[in-house]
Amino acid sequence: MKKNLETICIHGGWKPRKGEPQQLPIYQSTTFRYETSDQMARLFDLKDEGYFYTRLANPTNDAVARKVAALEGGVGCVLTSSGQAASFYAVFNICEAGDHFVSTNAIYGGTYNLFAVTLKKLGIECTFVDADAPDEEIQKAIRPNTKCIFGETISNPGGNILDIERLARLAHRNGLPLIVDNTFPTPINCRPFEWGADVVTHSTTKYMDGHATQVGGAVVDSGNFDWDAHADKFPGLTKPDESYHGLTYTKSFGKLAYCTKLVSQLMRDLGSIPAPQNAFLLNLGLETLHLRVARHCENAQKVAEWLQQNPRVAWVNYAGLPGNKYHALAQKYMPNGTCGVIAFGLKGTREDAIRFMDNLDFISIVTHVADARTCVLHPASHTHRQLSDEQLREAGVAPDLIRLSVGIENIDDILQDLENAMQKM
Ligand SMILES: *Cc1c(COP(=O)(O)O)cnc(C)c1O
Repeated sequence: MKKNLETICIHGGWKPRKGEPQQLPIYQSTTFRYETSDQMARLFDLKDEGYFYTRLANPTNDAVARKVAALEGGVGCVLTSSGQAASFYAVFNICEAGDHFVSTNAIYGGTYNLFAVTLKKLGIECTFVDADAPDEEIQKAIRPNTKCIFGETISNPGGNILDIERLARLAHRNGLPLIVDNTFPTPINCRPFEWGADVVTHSTTKYMDGHATQVGGAVVDSGNFDWDAHADKFPGLTKPDESYHGLTYTKSFGKLAYCTKLVSQLMRDLGSIPAPQNAFLLNLGLETLHLRVARHCENAQKVAEWLQQNPRVAWVNYAGLPGNKYHALAQKYMPNGTCGVIAFGLKGTREDAIRFMDNLDFISIVTHVADARTCVLHPASHTHRQLSDEQLREAGVAPDLIRLSVGIENIDDILQDLENAMQKM
């Protein structure tokens, strides 16, 4: 039976049979037992499916991965130990030294660092483009050795909305997959595969968990990108893998080629798996994702409207506001709401912004974002402080930007806390 998202949130992934636990068990075991040497050998040859070592696969992790894949409408999903690991693996699975890829410049600060600094050290070069620039502009960044285009559905912290359909068309015209970080909207509000994205990544640390209990990530593959049609560009998927007895991923695994390679090479060699305990916590969060996301959006819309008519506020960026630059794109891709994260600036100095944050009561100052509790962050003095002013601008972060992550508390209490803090400024 084909199920709707709300039902998948609860029932996806784990299907208990007779006498089995109703709730997903935590298989807190590094290894799994076999009865004959041959059984084990067949696993190592990828001839049989089965568990042998948790770095490669674990029943708890797999059940949660199946749920995330179902929510996104993908053919496969790999959970990772963090969102950063997910972004890294998603790109590194198809890029190697000497390769190049294109990313939009309005992305999470950690991802920017990964792409601009760390991947460069591995010989992979990234060109950052303005996602709102005309196609011809973005096209100029694409080279013969370009392997993918990367963007965020809703950028953290700027709140820019990606025109997924347009970027997917541009990517496909060039024989490239589009990778989209879908952390902020979650599949409840946007399913990028329906608009042509090929691979989706997540920091499950955020709304998917929703309670700030675990750091985790996910890479989901749509199974739609035809790697063999561009075989020379993606030899890792379309040519024999020496480290796996000369097996060719697209031949042996079809639509699961990308995920299988990610696990059997990157997880095997780099090992960023989540602990089964963390996958369990993520799964608990996912059970209420559809309820929480709706409330986050409802509250954030009210807060954004309140901020917009507040004389102390210089500007508000929330795509749910009719005057917003991204409102039309938000209506197209996320008609039920975007997310709970608002960016705004206060009139006055940088110190005024800091005083405002210090005056807050239950609204907390944390690096975190996108969970049940309302919280604030000043990227220029917190998450993005390693970036120069120029890099800040390039990453689409204004120096006075305050990121307000609206939680699911009572809306009147949230507004009262903001009002009190502003009055004391
Ligand atoms: C937080 C975040 C990440 C990084 O995820 P971690 O789980 O913190 O490693 C990546 N992308 C976006 C959009 C994020 O918000």
